[in-house]
Formats: sequence, C-alpha cells, structure tokens
Amino acid sequence: METFLQITYLNDFVFCPYSIYLHQVFDNNSEDTYSSKPQQKGKLAHQSIDTFETPNREKSAVLRGIYVISNRLGVYGKIDTLYVKQKKLVESKFKITTLYRGYYYQLWAQYLALTEMGYEVNELFFYSIKDKKNYQIEIPGDAEITELKNHIRKIARFDFESEINVNPVKCKHCIYASLCDKTNIDHVYA
Ligand code: SF4
Repeated sequence: METFLQITYLNDFVFCPYSIYLHQVFDNNSEDTYSSKPQQKGKLAHQSIDTFETPNREKSAVLRGIYVISNRLGVYGKIDTLYVKQKKLVESKFKITTLYRGYYYQLWAQYLALTEMGYEVNELFFYSIKDKKNYQIEIPGDAEITELKNHIRKIARFDFESEINVNPVKCKHCIYASLCDKTNIDHVYA
C-alpha cells in the first residue's frame, strides 16, 4: 500500500524534523495534552472561520476545510478556504510574521492537489488572522514544483533515529517541548 504524507508535515519538517515523529507518537492523544495557548487560539480562530455564515446562494462557491489529495505528489490534507468562483485559495495562520519556506510548501501542495482534482485555482494567498493581513504568493512554476518534490522525498527518506540539530530557540516555541526527549527546555507557553 502506498503511503501518503500529510500536507502539514511539509511545514513541520522545515520547523524541526523530529516534530513529525512526536506528532505521530501523540497523534492518538487529545490535542489538549500538548497544544500550547497560541495553537489553541489559532484553532479557535480557524473554527470561527469554518463556522462563518455565508449567504445561501454563495455557499457552494466557498469550500472550507475540505480534504484534498495528490497522487502525483503522494500527499493529502485539508485546505482552509477555496473561493471557487474567484479561483482563489487561502491558507490562514493565526499570526504571520514571516513567510517561511514550509508555508510555501504547504500551499503549493494544496494548490497542486486541487488542480489534480479538477479545480481551477489562479490565486494563492496567506491570511494572518490576528492582524487581518493578506499575503499573495505566485503560482508555483516548474522550478518550485521540483523543489517541492525534492522536499517531499527528503521527508519520506528521513531517518528519524538519526541525530538532529536541536535549536533551543525553536524548542521554546515548539508545542512538543515538554514531551520531547531531545531537549529539557519548556516552551514559552508553559
Ligand atoms: S522540542 Fe525542539 S527538538 Fe523537540 S520537536 Fe520541538 S523543536 Fe524539535
């Protein structure tokens, strides 16, 4: 059976490869066990987006939180919002201060999965919920798609038992810090 990667791993891996391993270990537990306050706030903010009332005649034109899959890339996951008529895909984050490369990988993968499933998408945006800012990015071209595929391959072949570079600055902002055997640092939300 083929194994598909979760699209969120594309970003998590850039942050810290070991966080994917911990995510898998704690996946079956209640997220309240390890979610930090910002993640919980972000989730509540996402829920308020998910439950946003759209006028009936517009409902079919906006898809929120649907699952997408790309056989070509070997990934699956949820999108935030697709404005079908405007052909606009939006990925929301609680607060965006920097557009990390992992964010791009996530949105590129969502875009490619949607187009593979037959949707038309002409515009890609990130939305920072806290300060209500939009960030438009380019549609990925051949070079970006190759970069994305290489990133996916790197994750698929990664040896999670190998030594990893522990970055205390990242650990401080990692939701798994209190459970992680690679560090004794508590995250700043404890
Ligand atoms: S606590 Fe640090 S080493 Fe552990 S998963 Fe998080 S970022 Fe990686």
